[in-house]
Amino acid sequence: MTDIADAASRLDLDALRLRLLERDEGKVNESIPELANADPGVCGIALALRDGQVLSSEDTDVEYSIQSAVKPFVYALALADDADRVHDAVGIEPTGEAFDAIRLESGSGRAPNPMVNAGALLTASFVRGSSIEERAQRILDGLGLFAGQDLRIDDSVVESEQKHGDRNHALAHLMRSEGTLQIPVDDAVAGYARSCSVLVTTKQLAVMGATLAFGGVNPMTGRRAVSEDIARDVMSVMATCGVYDGSGTWFRRVGVPAKSSVSGAIVLSAPQLLGAAVHSPPLDPQGTSARGAVGAEVLSDELDLHVLSTSRS
Ligand code: GLU
Repeated sequence: MTDIADAASRLDLDALRLRLLERDEGKVNESIPELANADPGVCGIALALRDGQVLSSEDTDVEYSIQSAVKPFVYALALADDADRVHDAVGIEPTGEAFDAIRLESGSGRAPNPMVNAGALLTASFVRGSSIEERAQRILDGLGLFAGQDLRIDDSVVESEQKHGDRNHALAHLMRSEGTLQIPVDDAVAGYARSCSVLVTTKQLAVMGATLAFGGVNPMTGRRAVSEDIARDVMSVMATCGVYDGSGTWFRRVGVPAKSSVSGAIVLSAPQLLGAAVHSPPLDPQGTSARGAVGAEVLSDELDLHVLSTSRS
C-alpha cells in the first residue's frame, strides 16, 4: 500500500462526518425548488484512490444535481473538442467576484474563466455537437468517463434552472454581442442548464476528481477521459478560480485544486494522490458548502494534501 492509501484508510470518515454535522452554520441555496428542498442534515465524504478503491462515510450514495462542480469537467471536454476556440473565448484569470457576475474580461470581451457562469456557458457551447441534444449527450458521455459510470440528467432541475436563468440569459446575450458565443442564446442557456442538472453521488464525484488527479485516467476503470495536458490545465484553473470569490483563502487553507457548487458539493483533485468529494447543502456566504470547506481542510491537513506542502516525503 502507498503512504497516501495507508493514511487514507486509517482516517475515520464517519467520525469526521459526525464532527462536521455538529456545525450548523450556512444556509441551503434557494435559487430553485429542487435545491431549496435539499435535506440540510445530509453530509458525506468520499475519497477515490489510485488503485480504484473508494473510501466513504455515510450519505455518499445520496443523489443531487452537480451544479457548478460540473464546470471543470465541461471545460476539459471543450478543450478536448476544440481547444483553440476555448482559448480564444475563455480566459483563465480569477475574478474575485460572484459566479454569476455580469462581467467579461475588459478589452477582449472574453469570459474571465471557465469556473464562472460566463465561461461555463461558452465551454458547454463548444463541446462537439450540432444541437442542444447532441452537446448534452456528449457532456453526459464525457462525464460518465470521468465517473466510471453512466450518469443521467434530472429534467425537473433543467426546467427550474431555465425558468430561473435570467442572469445566465443576460450573460449569454452579452457574449453573443461580443461574438464569443456563437450559438443562439436560448440554446446556450439550455445546454448549460442541462450540464448543471446531471445527478451525481458524492462517491461518483470523488472518482471524477480522481480522474483529473491521475492525469485524465479513471482509476476505477483504467479508461482515459482526457489527455494528461488537459487534466493539468483544468486543475490549474480549479486551483486559481474554483471556489468562487473565496479561491485565495481556499488555496492557503486547503491547497488542493477544487470546485464548489450551490448544491453543497465540493470536488477535489490532489495531483497524483487522490480525488475527493465532500457534500453538505448548507452554504457559507460565498456559496461554498460550510461543512464541506471544513471537511476539506481536515482532509488536507490529515493527509498532507496541500500541493505546496514541503513536509511530504
Ligand atoms: N446552476 C447554477 C447557476 O448557474 C450553478 C451555480 C453554482 O453551482 O455555482 O446559476
